Amino acid sequence: MKTAVIGGGAAGLASAVFAARAGGAVTVFEGNDRVGRKLLSTGNGRCNLSNADISPARYTTACPSFLEAALKGRGFDFAREFFASVGVPLTVEEGRAYPRSMRASAVADALRFECLRLGAELRTGVRVSGAEAVKGRFMVEGEMFDRLILACGGMAAPALGSDGFGFRLAKAFGHRVLEPYPALVQLRVLGPDKSLKGIRAAARAAAVVGGRRVRVEEGEVQFTDYGLSGVPIMQLSPLFRGEMEVALDLLPEWDFTSLTEELSALAERLGELPPGDFLGGYLHKNLTRRACLNAGLEPSRPVGSLTLRELKSLVGAIKNMSFKIVGTNSWPQAQTTRGGVDLREIEPKTMESRLVRGLYFAGEITDVCGECGGYNLHWAWVSGAAAGAASAR
Ligand SMILES: Cc1cc2nc3c(=O)[nH]c(=O)nc-3n(C[C@H](O)[C@H](O)[C@H](O)COP(=O)(O)OP(=O)(O)OC[C@H]3O[C@@H](n4cnc5c(N)ncnc54)[C@H](O)[C@@H]3O)c2cc1C
Repeated sequence: MKTAVIGGGAAGLASAVFAARAGGAVTVFEGNDRVGRKLLSTGNGRCNLSNADISPARYTTACPSFLEAALKGRGFDFAREFFASVGVPLTVEEGRAYPRSMRASAVADALRFECLRLGAELRTGVRVSGAEAVKGRFMVEGEMFDRLILACGGMAAPALGSDGFGFRLAKAFGHRVLEPYPALVQLRVLGPDKSLKGIRAAARAAAVVGGRRVRVEEGEVQFTDYGLSGVPIMQLSPLFRGEMEVALDLLPEWDFTSLTEELSALAERLGELPPGDFLGGYLHKNLTRRACLNAGLEPSRPVGSLTLRELKSLVGAIKNMSFKIVGTNSWPQAQTTRGGVDLREIEPKTMESRLVRGLYFAGEITDVCGECGGYNLHWAWVSGAAAGAASAR
């Protein structure tokens, strides 16, 4: 079986390996001058390639039942065994799986070596401009193939090669593409407070939609000149659909009552200090200033002069600092795509199109958006393996 794979990223390389292992004759077309270029940037160069806790709940999609079926029996052990088979043992830190060497380049190299060992052809520097079905086969770059795997990515980080071409091609084959949005991306807030720029704070971040807390994440939040960044913020970003607030609890280790009591007691000794200095051991001064302003308090007032009610307002502003979200950053800053080829038109176990026989999809091109933590690359391996193996049958 002669298989063409468009896209030599994570999903395309996994597709090629599994197709070649199943006896297929594989050609990978990659627009960049090398395969696996995006992989090199993942996990800050360490490649967080899977997670010990793989479950459909970690993904956003319009078709959760598809993921239930596609991920069944293909959790973390699948990734561990696959990488062991190409000479890359994994190590796990707080659930996140990395290559033991902590080098993303080792992952890209191992996949490339395995493709070459199996006889797959890697045609790099070839940006495919289109493909068509001809009498049950596929014409790609003037050559006929029995099978075609679209693994061209989504629209995130277009400088690394994925510019939405795959969506246009999927549509040309008659597939529905759910509107793509940048995901795992920073959030822009209404009237950003520039004095917060550069601050990093351990916080609990809640996405509030229609007055309801729909999701809570904890970790280091970064304040920028346009709004909010950091892993917990990226995790909340797929929930933004035009209306959302992010409420930060800047001291989540204390509940409201215990923090009020602790600060009241402290005020008996340090009451002459203004809130910024008084809370210097708890929070960055500028965050305290912001909290004072949000609570309607003058930031220079000595804490000892605050009434209990005012102190409670300050505690409330620290534990519930709310930001109205007006948008996300755009594709160049996004780590992945929300939306994509509609899963209802794909077979979950084989990733084959239900509309065009012999056409397969793998990776970010599909409507599968994972959380931070290795989930997106895990999807690339699982969907690539399924498409590759099925394409060779
Ligand atoms: C900075 C950054 C860090 C990330 N870190 C992580 C992480 O640590 N863990 C994690 O799980 N996920 C991470 N991700 C997300 C993850 O990298 C992607 O979800 C994953 O790479 C998607 O794989 P893919 O093969 O589907 O698409 P891509 O990796 O985008 O590969 C698609 C390939 O297709 C090629 N292509 C596109 N169009 C054409 C064409 N017309 N002709 C020929 N070739 C074409 C592109 O050049 C590209 O090489 C990160 C993303 C970014 C941007």
